[in-house]
Order: sequence, then C-alpha cells, then structure tokens
Amino acid sequence: MPPSEGAAPALTRHGHWIGGIAVPPSAGGYFEDLDPDVDRPFALAARGTAADVDAAVQAAQAAFAAFSRTPVNFREGVLSRAAAILERDIESLAALMITEIGSPIGKARHEVQRAADVFRAAAGATRHLSGKTLPSDVPGKMNLTFRAPLGVVASITPFNVPLGKGVRLSAIPLAFGNTVVMLPSEESPLMALRLAKVYEEAGLPPGCFNVVTGYGHEIGDALTGHPLVRSISFTGSTRVGTHIRELAARSGKKLTLELGGKSPLVVLDDADLSRAVQAAVLGSFGNQGQICMASSRIYVQRGVAAEFLARFAASASALGMGDLHDPATMIGPIINARQRARIKDHIDDAVAQGATVVSGGGWIGPRCQPTVLTGVTRGMLCHAEETFGPVTSVYAVDSLDEALQAANDSRYGLSSAIFTADLGHAMRFAREVSAGMVHVNGATAQAEPHVPFGGIGDSGMGREGPEYDMEAMTEWKWVSIQL
Ligand code: NAD
Repeated sequence: MPPSEGAAPALTRHGHWIGGIAVPPSAGGYFEDLDPDVDRPFALAARGTAADVDAAVQAAQAAFAAFSRTPVNFREGVLSRAAAILERDIESLAALMITEIGSPIGKARHEVQRAADVFRAAAGATRHLSGKTLPSDVPGKMNLTFRAPLGVVASITPFNVPLGKGVRLSAIPLAFGNTVVMLPSEESPLMALRLAKVYEEAGLPPGCFNVVTGYGHEIGDALTGHPLVRSISFTGSTRVGTHIRELAARSGKKLTLELGGKSPLVVLDDADLSRAVQAAVLGSFGNQGQICMASSRIYVQRGVAAEFLARFAASASALGMGDLHDPATMIGPIINARQRARIKDHIDDAVAQGATVVSGGGWIGPRCQPTVLTGVTRGMLCHAEETFGPVTSVYAVDSLDEALQAANDSRYGLSSAIFTADLGHAMRFAREVSAGMVHVNGATAQAEPHVPFGGIGDSGMGREGPEYDMEAMTEWKWVSIQL
C-alpha cells in the first residue's frame, strides 16, 4: 500500500497512542486502512518511524516504575472492567472488525467474546505471581524467591485475529505489572487504537499501553531491537518470526513466538462422520481459512474416505458467501492482493501438477470459494506451505500409522486433531503427533485463555496462557535473609 498524503478528505486520520494521548506521526505520513471486501480505504493511520517507536517505548518505560508497584486488586480491577467494556461494545467492535479485516459477523462476535474471556483470565493471573521459600546450606539463613515484572514488553500482532491477539498480547504482560508497546498489523491499526480506548476507560494509567501503527518492515526492528524492550511477544508469519528470533538471540531478550501452521486433521474409520465433517468445515474454512490452526491437511482412513469427501465437499460448497453482517456468511474476503495471489498460486500450482479440485477453486471478487483438493503430492506448494486461505487437501490413508507418519511430515507443529471412537488410538495420536496442541473429536482450531497455546518447529516457541507466559514476562529473584 502506498502512503496516501493525497487521499480523500473524508477519511479520518488516526495518530499513534503514546502516553495516554493520540500523537501524530513524527514524519507526518499516513497510510490507508483498506476495507478488503470493497478494496477501498476507510481511514488513515499514522505511518510510524523509529522516532515514534522510541517515544512509545520511553512512555512505557516511564510508566513502568509506578505501574509495577500497583496493588494486585488495582490491575485486577482494570482488566475486569476491560472485559465488561468489550462485552458492552461487542456490536461496535464486531462492526469495526468487519470493515477493517473483512471478518464474517459470527467470527467477529466470537472473537470479541473470547477476548473478554482473556481479560478475565488475565485479571485472575494477577493473583498468581507466586514465589517459593527454600532451605539454605547456611545456618540461620532463609531463601525466598519471587517473580518481578520485566519492564517494557513489545507486543506484535497479526491481522486475522486483531482483537483476540491484541488482548492476549497486552493483558497478560500488564497483569504481571509490565507495560506494553503494541505494533499491530498494518491491516488492522484501528482495532489496536480502539483497544487503547478500552484500556483508558477501564482505568489503566497513561503510558502503560501504547500503540505505534505503521509498516512492520519499516519499524519492527526499531521496536524489537530497542534496548529498553525486555521481552517480545510476537504472533504472525514464520518468515517474520524467524527474523525476530535471530535478532532476539543476539540481544538476549525474552521471546514468545506464535507462528504459522499446517495443521493435520485425521479421521479414522470408526469416527462419527457428521462431527468430523463439521470440524473439518470449521477448521478449514472459518474466517475464510485465515486461521493459524486451519485444518489444511486432512487424512481420512480409506474405509470412510469416499463418504467423508462427498459430505465435506457438499458442506463446503454450501457455505454462505454473502453479506458479512449476515450470520449465515462464513466466507469473507481475503485480506489483500498479496495474500490473494498466494492462494491463487497454491491452487493453480496444484492443478497444474495434477491435483483435482473437488469443490471450489474459483473466486467471487476478493473472496475465494471454499476449496477442497485431492491428489496433492509432495512438491506442490500447498502440500507443505501454509496457504492461509480457504483451501485444504484431503488424503486417503490405510492406517493410524500412515496418518501419523504423514501428519508428522511437516516443519510446522501447531495444532492437530483426530476423530475416532477408539481411546487407545486417540491417545497414541496425542502422544506421537508433532504438534503443540491435540484435539480428540474436535476441530484443529480451538483456543482457551488459560491453556498452553502454541506450537513447535516452524510454528513457534513458548506458550501463551497466563501460567506459561510468566516465564517470558517476569524475572525470578532470589532473596536471602540472614537471621
Ligand atoms: P505478518 O508476519 O505479515 O505480520 C505480523 C506482524 O509482524 C505485523 O504486526 C507486522 O507489522 C509485523 N512485522 C512485520 N515485519 C516486522 C519486523 N521486521 N519486525 C517486527 N515486526 C514486524 O503476519 P500476518 O499476515 O499479519 O498474519 C498471518 C500469519 O500469522 C499467518 O502465518 C498465521 O498462521 C500467523 N498467526 C499465528 C497465530 C498463532 O497463534 N500461532 C495466530 C494468528 C496468526
């Protein structure tokens, strides 16, 4: 997207949010925030610079000293009130999500409600920052430990779940007494600015939550490399995450990475097929496939493969592609031209190399039809790469062994799922599949605020969830007392 100094005057301009106020961009530039369903700009957001990033980090650092000493019930109160504000404003937040990233309304409402749940989990986490007392080798000496907040946390969010991840990557560090600078995706700057208003209304002191908008490739390094940033919490593509991992390794900063996926769904002969089809539809096509945990590889045991494929393809082609405000709509627009080109490439490449399009494959404007492929083989782009669109491949397998082997033949390892009535098979899959998350008789796309959410390999490192984030967002202190 080009900067838009000469854009239509009707568009509202939005500055950064630094130190509790809206701040215009230091270099004066703005960029267009596009509504992907019509490919038209609807707002202008500040195009951040390294100077803006520095101002935000300095504001967060300045706020840290007082905030880190606030009593637990203060932080608990702020986060609880923020949850209530989200629930009160669910319709206007969902409306913004529809306009800014093209979410169908069902997904948008669900995301707001889940974000409220995360606020409540974070509020509860404020009371669980516990340490230990330990024995000593020295007579009369007592050892104790506690967890201290770090300081400024850089929170970098993707476009596809802008509020869900916006809340996760800010509420948890705040719960522990850190302060936050958020860099949202350039596709969803307004949602992060709206979140800042939620925090303000909930009573969070100025400077504790800051937002710098702009292009990640221009200002991301200024944020992750800033000497005052103590921990980085990143959700986004494996490409950018790998770059950040290298930088963080050099600087020694704490790091949590939640990256892409190629999550396998396995359906065995004894599965409840109706539930399996339903989970496959939700997991493959929810939010038009723009889900990190998308079921983009489906392995079906041969005895039920034909029936599964027929029912799955029929359900896929019946999905609503209408008005995003209509709850019957499941398939919205793909976020931008680059992503649309990537999805088209994946489908075209598969077809050119001999794959079969069982359903979908076409486009209605910016929307890709839910697409089911068979005959996908190694070497095709969609065999191993994340498509991040409504495209999945169905493979027939002879056994659980073959399903496991295929499922583990990936550099990703985010989520996974198996449908079977055999608990032994389910537990074997759970133990042996290379993934951070395993669901038995459920979809690959699931999240809850308090579980260890995350993956292995190219899907990331560390886990989200209040208990697990503690390691990345606090520091142990050992205190000894000689009595
Ligand atoms: P992206 O990697 O393009 O962008 C993510 C964020 O990184 C944006 O805020 C962007 O501004 C920022 N960024 C870009 N360059 C940077 C740099 N050099 N330094 C620091 N930040 C930089 O990802 P996206 O297209 O917004 O999101 C889609 C991807 O996110 C998919 O791969 C999806 O699987 C993944 N995702 C993962 C999870 C998870 O929990 N594992 C959840 C949602 C999305």
